[in-house]
Amino acid sequence: SNKWKVNPTVIDLGNGVIIGGDEFAIMSGPCSIEGEEQIADTIDFLKSQGVKIMRGGVYKPRSSPYSFRGLGIDGLKLWYKMAREAGLKIITEVMQVSQIEEMHDYVDIYQVGARNTQNFNLLDELGKVDKAVMIKRGISGTIDELLYSAEYVFSGGNEKLLLCERGIRTYEKASRNTFDINAIPILKEKTHLPVIADPSHGIGIRKHVGEVAMASVIAGADGVIFESHSCPEKAYSDGQQTLDFKESEKLIKAMKETHKLR
Ligand code: PEP
Ligand code: MN
Repeated sequence: SNKWKVNPTVIDLGNGVIIGGDEFAIMSGPCSIEGEEQIADTIDFLKSQGVKIMRGGVYKPRSSPYSFRGLGIDGLKLWYKMAREAGLKIITEVMQVSQIEEMHDYVDIYQVGARNTQNFNLLDELGKVDKAVMIKRGISGTIDELLYSAEYVFSGGNEKLLLCERGIRTYEKASRNTFDINAIPILKEKTHLPVIADPSHGIGIRKHVGEVAMASVIAGADGVIFESHSCPEKAYSDGQQTLDFKESEKLIKAMKETHKLR
């Protein structure tokens, strides 16, 4: 699709929330949506930072079926109501075709998770929706495979697409995944789509998330999505890679300042 699109894709989510072009998008929130109090805490925090897009999972792809698997559609509806009152946009993972329609009125960006990057039926169906879609790079996916996945959605007619580097599985065990910083300039060169970095899943180690996030800003990312929680130690999932609000505040400030210098 880069052959016929010369201008970078800019996605307008409404109410002045724009991704791509000269904008730098910050998306943050918990790995999993856990309940009303947690949603309220996160919204208050994001609002205080001027962050306009909240992340969170209500359908969670967990390695073990016995782990917390999310609050489902009722959690999404509650979250949506609270987020809208606060003027925040929502990005959340859709795991299967049947969820697309039930989630439709309550999401601003559908996230395709790393385990579903090559779920071609899901991608085909997302090609037909009128909402933005962010596709994460597959667990062991190449850059080209990510691009082909994007083509599925794009060729279906949905051009509101974002690409996300979230690390890949390599032989390295010192970090959860190997964040591929190379992917950022390469994706920027090969496509016209906004490129988002996910340092949380990329490294999986809380004290280093900020460093990977900053590297991504310098590498040219159009945005960063990272996990935050008022008390990461108590998070239902991914607490080990989740920043508390103090750490998040520091990172948000640093990313904004660095983006201005690009
Ligand atoms: C997530 O964003 O919480 C998530 C499950 O991400 P990934 O698909 O990259 O593992
Ligand atoms: Mn997570």
